[in-house]
Amino acid sequence: MSLYQHTAKELHEKLLKKECSAKEIAESVFARIDACEERVGAYVTLEREGAMAAAQAVDQKIAAGESIGPLAGIPVAVKDNICTKGVLTTCASRMLYNFRPPYDATVVEKLRGADYVMTGKANMDEFAMGSSCETSYFKKTANPHDLARVPGGSSGGSAAAVAAGEAVLALGSDTGGSIRQPASLCGVIGLKPTYGSVSRYGLVAFASSLDQIGPFGRCVEDVAALYGAICGRDKMDATTARRDYPDFSAFNGDVRGLRIGIPKEYFGPGVDPEVKELVHAALRELESAGAVLKELSLPGTDYALSAYYIISSAEASSNLARFDGVKYGYRAEEYDGLLDMYEKTRSQGFGDEVKRRIMLGTFVLSSGYYDAYYNKAKLFQKALRAEFVAAFEDCDLIATPTSPTVAFRLEENVDDPLKMYAADVCTIAVNIAGLPGLSVPCGVSEGLPVGMQLIGPRFSEQRLFDTAYAFQQLRGGSLCPMPELA
Ligand code: GLN
Repeated sequence: MSLYQHTAKELHEKLLKKECSAKEIAESVFARIDACEERVGAYVTLEREGAMAAAQAVDQKIAAGESIGPLAGIPVAVKDNICTKGVLTTCASRMLYNFRPPYDATVVEKLRGADYVMTGKANMDEFAMGSSCETSYFKKTANPHDLARVPGGSSGGSAAAVAAGEAVLALGSDTGGSIRQPASLCGVIGLKPTYGSVSRYGLVAFASSLDQIGPFGRCVEDVAALYGAICGRDKMDATTARRDYPDFSAFNGDVRGLRIGIPKEYFGPGVDPEVKELVHAALRELESAGAVLKELSLPGTDYALSAYYIISSAEASSNLARFDGVKYGYRAEEYDGLLDMYEKTRSQGFGDEVKRRIMLGTFVLSSGYYDAYYNKAKLFQKALRAEFVAAFEDCDLIATPTSPTVAFRLEENVDDPLKMYAADVCTIAVNIAGLPGLSVPCGVSEGLPVGMQLIGPRFSEQRLFDTAYAFQQLRGGSLCPMPELA
């Protein structure tokens, strides 16, 4: 087995036992990148030299007898909407094709402090708008399990990198499903954390009230370790909660008595029958280990998608106003005066999907429509939150499919925005309610991975990890087999 195939947990042990060096780990991952990146296309920017230097610094620490943490020397891909000092951060947009941030996002600063090794910046849908990675200005990313299919999105590059072994871990961002849906489609584990548990400072904003950065990995322990390294209060982001977090390094694999709610709205006609069956089969396994399954109803689910596209587009239209050709990024080459410069820069710098969101967002915020759309969506958000709070009186967590289908074919949905939007029908309510959601692989349909989503009350990440860990144990200790890509 090559080093790139190992989990972070295994690599950490190897480093401690001096069975390998951090440099060898980085070399193994970059050899894998050389072997398959041309076909997978997970990265916008590779950081080979920086990665080697970071790995060598870890080796020096080890040689000097210093102690190292669980992420030291571990290769991590970072989504390209997370600011990295001096390293291109494009949001997969022409608008930021040349943007090198003068500062690190808080999560990046924390990971640097934990001695991680950044492999590069992962491809994504432009400004995180999309479910297939196909709205990237630079390239399409392929699903490592079937190169003719999408990896999901918007954090498709991060998910594909981890699935293919082109990184051991990755960071993504999730506004309506962008970590969980690609994790599901690529057969890896992905967490959308509780809103307010991870700093958004340095994350290029899409919809600030919904965006959250989170981890991808190939085992529950790795995802928990990466989450533990990035969560916490940050004075640079006033929406981060003041509270203490456990270190997420111990797991209770005993699910006896755990009440799992199964909301009937997530198993409706829009969801592929085989996906439903695989999620039910996984739940029956947890039941035979002692969990108690409970049917329940979350009627607000039906309105979540509509409310999401109103709220997220409204916030996006305001957040993206800053890209005007003056401060940073792209500027049209020829123009006639200031207003023409704005207009041409924004027309040429943004792709179609981003423009669609800006127009929709501007419309729902305009006087005359504000009450009819935006305010209604915000009222619905309150009601949906209350619905989840009530549901969690009867159960400890909720289980659903993560995606209604397996990975679709490249090009299959690009010309049909509504079909593309429906890819997030199972993940969106979690963002609207500010809850944590974890996607774990639970089976294979048509040779492609299927994910199960576990949703908990706010700040219940440990419970989600415990349950996923129990499931991982039931499945023989491994949930994410790596495709050959020979
Ligand atoms: N697919 C959804 C959208 O396009 C979610 C994106 C996300 O979570 N960033 O808005």
